Amino acid sequence: MKKYLIVIDQGTTSSRVVLIDSKTKIIDQDFIEIKRKDNNNSEVLTDANEILFSVNDLLKRLFQRNNLDPKLVSSISITNQRETTVLWSAKTGKPISDAISWQSKHTNYITDKWIELGYTELVFDKTGLLINPYFSASKIKHLLINNNSDINNIKFGTVDSFLIYNLSVEKNHYTDISNASRTMLFNINNKEYDDELLELFNIPKSILPKVLSNDSLYGHYQYKDTLIPIIGVAGDQQSALFGHLCTEVGESKVTYGTGCFILTNTGDKPKYSNNGLLTTIAWDLDNKTTYAMEGSVFMGGSAVGWMKDKLNLVNHANESEAMAYESNNDNVFVVPAFVGLGAPYWDNEVQGSILGLEANTSKLDIMKATLNSIAYQVADILNLMKNDTKIDIKSIAVDGGASNNNYLMQFQSDLINVNLIQNVESEITSLGVAFMAGLKLGLWKSIEEIKNLQKIKKIFVPIVDQSKTNKLYRKWRKAVEVTRMFKEEKQ
Ligand code: ADP
Repeated sequence: MKKYLIVIDQGTTSSRVVLIDSKTKIIDQDFIEIKRKDNNNSEVLTDANEILFSVNDLLKRLFQRNNLDPKLVSSISITNQRETTVLWSAKTGKPISDAISWQSKHTNYITDKWIELGYTELVFDKTGLLINPYFSASKIKHLLINNNSDINNIKFGTVDSFLIYNLSVEKNHYTDISNASRTMLFNINNKEYDDELLELFNIPKSILPKVLSNDSLYGHYQYKDTLIPIIGVAGDQQSALFGHLCTEVGESKVTYGTGCFILTNTGDKPKYSNNGLLTTIAWDLDNKTTYAMEGSVFMGGSAVGWMKDKLNLVNHANESEAMAYESNNDNVFVVPAFVGLGAPYWDNEVQGSILGLEANTSKLDIMKATLNSIAYQVADILNLMKNDTKIDIKSIAVDGGASNNNYLMQFQSDLINVNLIQNVESEITSLGVAFMAGLKLGLWKSIEEIKNLQKIKKIFVPIVDQSKTNKLYRKWRKAVEVTRMFKEEKQ
């Protein structure tokens, strides 16, 4: 009986490997930091070789330090930062340029043109995405424009695909459907690359990886004389949704990190938003496709970081919890629009504000208002999702640094009147693809069986009267409105 599953979690700032046993318990993990390449302009680049070397090193280290018999490893799964774009040589597998990070916006000269040409609606209908440099398409285009390699020798892939190509003995040029659906080239309705978009963008189909369902066999990784199947591949946010076992319609997850990422399972049909949220394929398992709606908050935990670094309100972000509990002021509002506001406001010009200050307002109150602002912004997105999908949000699984803040979680639960569930395990993203692989390989028979193996740390249940929180929420919307007016008057 094979006992272990390995997951590679290739992220923006680090590569990580995780070793999981058949009880879904994480028994070892290791990571190597990945440097962002310094550069004089606005490009955010990473050396793709560094990504590959780090993963190779981590895998070897994991086998060695656990004295792990490769014959006992049932699979290697991959979850990864999404949209980051690599082009490599078909002959050598070596990158022909740096990887362009999802964070890089310097290809907006291309996306601006596509918007000008009127492609917005077409792209949204086909891909569920808004034309934006964030997605892979314009990054591919930029690399093709600036590279004179023979097109027949070029392969494109997101990080999953680049790793599969280089780690599999078969040198398979594959990607999974959740990563493909973030390229802005993939039609999420018929689940194929879209020929019309490829033609409009002038991107050759021949360089694109073949798209497989998440639980397909992607190839084999060789360790010593053992071939280990690569099974279970998904983009990080989708993998986290599955890791939280949000497999039913209306189940959501919120990651409270630097920003907040919110995904809701919308079932077997794509649901579209009228307010700038994205529609994406969550996964394709057992020949069944599940879709999700996705939204994000720009300033999440980083709003607390700003209060720490710029106003020195705390030495560590976790001190904010006790401060918030000590304050009994509900009249201060922080609108953390440090980099504008996303959905539903979509306002790039608005700047941040603190409202409702009085003679006796203290730093405790400002900190509480900062935490509240994270919850209000997440509520803004969840309310949009509810309206746009007509799906009731049943429960919310939470993770990320700021999800450890009990005050914030309780306030969030009260505000949206939904239970919030915290798992004991923090590496939820890795668990997602491991679950996909384990289910496929029969290590676990069902989602139910996995559910029974999971340990819940805490469930936050709404306790405050809804009329009180509704009043507060209305005041938040007013605070945003007033803040946006200030910008308009300034101009
Ligand atoms: P990322 O993965 O995006 O780098 P993390 O999930 O590690 O981020 O979360 C870090 C962010 O969460 C930081 O911006 C930090 O300010 C905030 N944070 C961490 N712990 C807490 C806490 N206990 N309360 C509030 N905010 C927190």
